[in-house]
Amino acid sequence: MQRAPTQILRLAQNDIVMNDSVRDRFIGSILGLAIGDALGMPFEGWYPDQIRQHWDNNAFLPSPPRGLGSGQYTDDTLMAICHLKSLIDSGKMEPEDTAQKFIEWYNSGNLRGIGKSTAISMQRLKKGCPWQESGAVGEFAAGNGGAMRIAPVGLFLCNDIPSLKEAVHQAVVMTHNNTEAIAGAAAVAYLVARAAKGDLDPDTAISETRKFIGHSAVSKNLAKAETLFREGTRPEEALDILGTSGYVVETVASAVFCFLNTPQDFKSTVVHAVLGGVDTDTTAAVAGAISGAFNGADRIPPDWISGREDSEALASMADRLFELSKKTS
Ligand SMILES: [Mg+2]
Repeated sequence: MQRAPTQILRLAQNDIVMNDSVRDRFIGSILGLAIGDALGMPFEGWYPDQIRQHWDNNAFLPSPPRGLGSGQYTDDTLMAICHLKSLIDSGKMEPEDTAQKFIEWYNSGNLRGIGKSTAISMQRLKKGCPWQESGAVGEFAAGNGGAMRIAPVGLFLCNDIPSLKEAVHQAVVMTHNNTEAIAGAAAVAYLVARAAKGDLDPDTAISETRKFIGHSAVSKNLAKAETLFREGTRPEEALDILGTSGYVVETVASAVFCFLNTPQDFKSTVVHAVLGGVDTDTTAAVAGAISGAFNGADRIPPDWISGREDSEALASMADRLFELSKKTS
């Protein structure tokens, strides 16, 4: 059937609008990750009461210097950049190349708070251990080091959800050979992918994510987050119950709660994640990646974008990733 010219024009316009909004959400997710990371950075390890004293209901007040300057991100973003570079260079999830990018980063010495499991794995990779065997094992490997950096993989495969699980496994296992660490990263990648495509409904986000990742402690705590959300629990109380340590089961549930609580308000989502205390940079990085993918860069406060390290370079990498992702559909 031949289409009338006006119909074709309308379809083309829809395509442009759709493409541009997905592009904006790719950029929003990567910037959101870095912004959340940088916002939480000064307060890592602090308790909520201490952080609250540095929050004036609009902005965080300057805190004692911690080796990094205001607006600088930490290992969360540095490792996400390794994924970005590897996906862009390879045009696919290529674990050998990702491992190489991680080693290059590790050798640079610019580690900014590297986690224990990751440090162990980097030593093994450097000695020539294959990526399939380099990851830390045991219960202490159930950290959030995979979940914090996985957003680029979710974005890249947003048109190919069936391939996402295997890609996440490959991305995470080289540092965290632990089913919960992988399940937590899969949850974040899935939420980011669905949000970037523009088909994530906050109302069903948790139930669909739980279905995707399968039975796990991550899934259980996500169910608790959903219950707390439906009961109208305030974020400070909810995060206290769900936990905000470096344990991935806690990080993912708390970050998702913050997103669900204010799905259309990027700023409130990441602020609540930081106010939850303890592993502030990572909880906020995960919340920021999901909220940024849902809202797009357009709804991130402009001064937060301009005031953060490398915003332009990160946006340009997200843009390249968007172009490459079209080939996976
Ligand atoms: Mg960090």
